[in-house]
Amino acid sequence: MCGIVAYLGERQAFDIILKGLKRLEYRGYDSSGIALADQNGLKLYKKQGKVADLEHFTTGKNISGSTGIGHTRWATHGEPNDKNAHPHLSQDESLAIIHNGIIENYSSLKQELINKGHMFRSDTDSEVVIHFIEDIRNNNACSLEEAVRLALTKIVGAYAIVVIDQNDPNLLIAARKGSPLVIGVGKDEYFLASDATPIIEYTNEVVYLNDYEIAIIRKEGLILKNIEAVQTNPYIQTIDLELDAIEKGGYDHFMLKEIYEQPKSIGDAMRGRLNAASGHLVLGGIRDYLNRLVSADRIVILACGTSWHAGLVAEYFLEDLCRIPVEVEYASEFRYRNPIIREGDVIIAISQSGETADTLAAIELAKSKGAIIFGVVNAVGSSIARTSHVGAYIHAGPEIGVASTKAFTAQVAVLSMIAMIVAYKKGTITETKYHELLVELETIPKKVEKALQLDKKSKAIAERFKDARNFLYLGRGYNFPVALEGALKLKEISYIHAEGYPAAEMKHGPIALIDEEMPVVFIATRDGSYDKIISNIQEVKARKGKVIAIVTEGDVLIPTIADYVLEVPVTIDALMPLVSVIPLQLLSYYIANLRGCNVDQPRNLAKSVTVE
Ligand code: GLU
Repeated sequence: MCGIVAYLGERQAFDIILKGLKRLEYRGYDSSGIALADQNGLKLYKKQGKVADLEHFTTGKNISGSTGIGHTRWATHGEPNDKNAHPHLSQDESLAIIHNGIIENYSSLKQELINKGHMFRSDTDSEVVIHFIEDIRNNNACSLEEAVRLALTKIVGAYAIVVIDQNDPNLLIAARKGSPLVIGVGKDEYFLASDATPIIEYTNEVVYLNDYEIAIIRKEGLILKNIEAVQTNPYIQTIDLELDAIEKGGYDHFMLKEIYEQPKSIGDAMRGRLNAASGHLVLGGIRDYLNRLVSADRIVILACGTSWHAGLVAEYFLEDLCRIPVEVEYASEFRYRNPIIREGDVIIAISQSGETADTLAAIELAKSKGAIIFGVVNAVGSSIARTSHVGAYIHAGPEIGVASTKAFTAQVAVLSMIAMIVAYKKGTITETKYHELLVELETIPKKVEKALQLDKKSKAIAERFKDARNFLYLGRGYNFPVALEGALKLKEISYIHAEGYPAAEMKHGPIALIDEEMPVVFIATRDGSYDKIISNIQEVKARKGKVIAIVTEGDVLIPTIADYVLEVPVTIDALMPLVSVIPLQLLSYYIANLRGCNVDQPRNLAKSVTVE
């Protein structure tokens, strides 16, 4: 969601920014723009559409300047068009701003500024910020830095901003509250971005800006101040991110690459943490508060989207193995409904990006009620990782495809490890059962590898159903969240309407939809509810629905009833989601691809949802 890139140094800023914006394309956006500053003033280029359209538009134009700001916009206020694209200029056109987030009090500020004679060129909330900064600077005859600071004390909402000034091209001012911003520190040069991906080819030394921090950046150095104008020390971290992790590596799409990476990414989630032979299972990051989990009266899981589905899987195994009541909440609902948090409750917050606005706000609310937060996050150094009391990274590596695949399985792997540790400590499982679980989890990457061999078969099924208008996904027990995830994957990238349901719920509504046109995907692996799900399959067949069944290897019964069968390796019920989700990911990928959809950047979606 929205990408920010900025550069200040000796090199030409344009190329660095353009390349950076391309690296951030995965976040989702609808227009882009770049402003450059040098002794000759400001140059501004903005275009609706893809970064390639901006590149085309700027070909042959003057793009010189060693200071610049660039933005990919995910519209919240005002249509996606050229004039609403960022950067936005101040009234006198000497200042430019890029902004990620939402300014909640923009309309009253805008009205005040209009009364003072300001004229606005866009419908955005963001443009108001730069006019407001300009107005403060003019009224107080203060520095730009001070004007930005004063403006931010009055602004309500979420933002990451970067400002440039044509009268002082050796200056960038950046600030954040609620939206991410990373500063890459080079030699006499600085790179700013919404995440580290545009930065790592230049430097691996970064500073993650905190909420209410303002960065004043000149070639000579970086100064950080808080909103009270008190200088703070930048904490420079070295990040360990390889360039090839953010490139396609021969695959047609990031999503396919990421689906195929899962044997490795699940392995990475367990690396150094699990050794079944020696009975070793330790998550260093949660050790400090482990007892709170073990003695928890209740666990509340907060998440959105695919992470919420991983949370549902966790609910099944936390209740099953640890005998602790679990509630899985949409973070967006939790934060606005005066939830009850008691002493003895523990929160687990799950987010791939670690920047999900609703999850962050829900965490803050739970914290204010005294809850302990366990973060389960992919992006190292992200806001949720930093605001949680303790946490475990899922180590899936950068996930660029907007539809989450490898982050889901790594989340499930990490959450299952947490459940195993807690169950063992609590004594709710036997020693033998604990060891069985560890051994089984260790074999999962191999089983996922085997499940990936369903590629061709999934593609053939995709050919058959690519023109379907609706899909139903049904599962029971641990496979119910997988049904939800399968349906979500399909609608996200292929725009086919799909719904996931617990298979038994079919009779309470969705069965009305079934006719000879309706593909129904059953996740019907051999588990405790196998016989029941066979009855559900029969019910669909009796109404002429087309059944695609995910079954356990060697199943002889379901292939005689279902129209299409995809066999996955055997594992225990609790870990089956890690395996049974694989053919569903492949099926969605191929259906979307065959329909000519933009698999990696589906329409309207953003990778990291940093606005509520
Ligand atoms: N609210 C701003 C706009 O609509 C910024 C959106 C974004 O984060 O891309 O322009």
